[in-house]
Amino acid sequence: MYSVTDPATGVLIEEVANSTDEEVRESIGRVHSGYPGWRRRTVEERAAIVARAADLFEQRTDELAAIMTQEMGKRINEGRGEVGIVVDIFRYYAENGPALLADEPLDIKGGRAVITKGPIGALLGIMPWNFPCYQVARFVAPNLVLGNTILLKHASICPRSGRAIEEILRAAGVPDDVYVNTYASSRQIPAILADPRIVGVSLTGSEQAGVSVAAEAGKNLKKTVLELGGSDPLIVLDTADLDETVNATATARMRNCGQSCNAPKRMIVLADIYDEYVDRLTKRVAEYYVPGDPADPETKLPPLASNSAADEVAGQVAKAVEQGATLRTGGQRITPGAFLEATVLTDVTPQMDAYYEEIFGPVVIVFKAETETEAIALANDTPFGLGASVWGTDDERSRRVAEQIEAGMVYLNRAGGSQADLPFGGIKRSGMGRELGPAGIEEFMNKKSIRL
Ligand code: NAP
Repeated sequence: MYSVTDPATGVLIEEVANSTDEEVRESIGRVHSGYPGWRRRTVEERAAIVARAADLFEQRTDELAAIMTQEMGKRINEGRGEVGIVVDIFRYYAENGPALLADEPLDIKGGRAVITKGPIGALLGIMPWNFPCYQVARFVAPNLVLGNTILLKHASICPRSGRAIEEILRAAGVPDDVYVNTYASSRQIPAILADPRIVGVSLTGSEQAGVSVAAEAGKNLKKTVLELGGSDPLIVLDTADLDETVNATATARMRNCGQSCNAPKRMIVLADIYDEYVDRLTKRVAEYYVPGDPADPETKLPPLASNSAADEVAGQVAKAVEQGATLRTGGQRITPGAFLEATVLTDVTPQMDAYYEEIFGPVVIVFKAETETEAIALANDTPFGLGASVWGTDDERSRRVAEQIEAGMVYLNRAGGSQADLPFGGIKRSGMGRELGPAGIEEFMNKKSIRL
């Protein structure tokens, strides 16, 4: 069952029945049969439709933001910001698609060749609830321009976002056999991946879902992109302005109520500023991030996406404290609704679960490092490898540290965030493949070598 429950109140708003097996097969048939016609269109035609989608997303910003607030408790202004990035992504691929798909001539031994860049077929997208519009855009915009067709399974708490996105694409001119929204359940995914009409899958979600989808896709030899969890380190080497650094790093962690894959989740601070950093961060987190109604633009800390998500994060915090971590502030569930106080933990050691697991909520963990080398070792001591950030006043030193971090992305003096033209993705247990930027259109591409 897909359902919308307002996480701020716990009130059930809508239920949508799962697609039947027959409906799922029919949807696969549609995107399969739509593929030849879609790939035959010129890149310019497909890009023009994607550009129209960008305009329609822009026009429906407030409506989409309100849907996200209701489905998963996103602060209304953050929802508007998210749609802004979606518009950027659709425009980026509409404008750059034709150049990114241009033939690439190659001088080779004894002659010449050309690499042509074409689509591969009908793809399955499986998307999470944390950025209901942005995650879909990262996968859909480049693949529509490239000429692939798409069957999209959204998170089961986001049926309204899924429906609204399909409506927008349809209104922009994407045919109903080129993009299809399905209410398939995760139990139906193995059958979809076993169907020869689906040639690839992109999943954004948890590590567990990634393991399951990768196994099924592997069994069926399907190309896979996995954008999974993260526990990004944020290294503070030194700072010109401690308050500014504290506020910026708290903002990055608390964005989307801490439910961003690439939020900095482990702050690693050099010893000489550690005490001061922890004191100021604790004060900032306790005083500024007051829980409230996500539909109110003044609210600083919304609920988590669901009661079960809030219970899980509260449980992780309680376990860390039980295992010996220090709770500097927060940690308490607030009901009714899926609220959790903004939390700061310190003294987390490798013997505790919280040291290695992803905490997907408004929880900051601060570590002390005696030296730069120790900071890098701490940063890399994680199963994940999504993003990281390095904060300091000496760019050369920050760059040197960045190069030693095991992650798909490192930001200097900024954290989290994402932009249309910058590739996004991780290594280790954070997944495989890239989205956004030029790399994002290459994942499900047939780079065909033609020997002339
Ligand atoms: P999730 O529970 O894994 O769900 C993501 C999607 O996968 C949903 O559509 C879900 O369907 C589906 N799913 C779950 N189990 C599945 C299975 N065994 N087989 C096939 N599909 C399955 O993740 P989430 O809780 O929505 O999202 C949070 C996680 O996503 C965090 O770990 C976060 O770090 C990660 N994330 C990563 C990125 C990135 O770019 N690396 C971006 C955003 C989020 P149902 O809803 O029907 O269960």
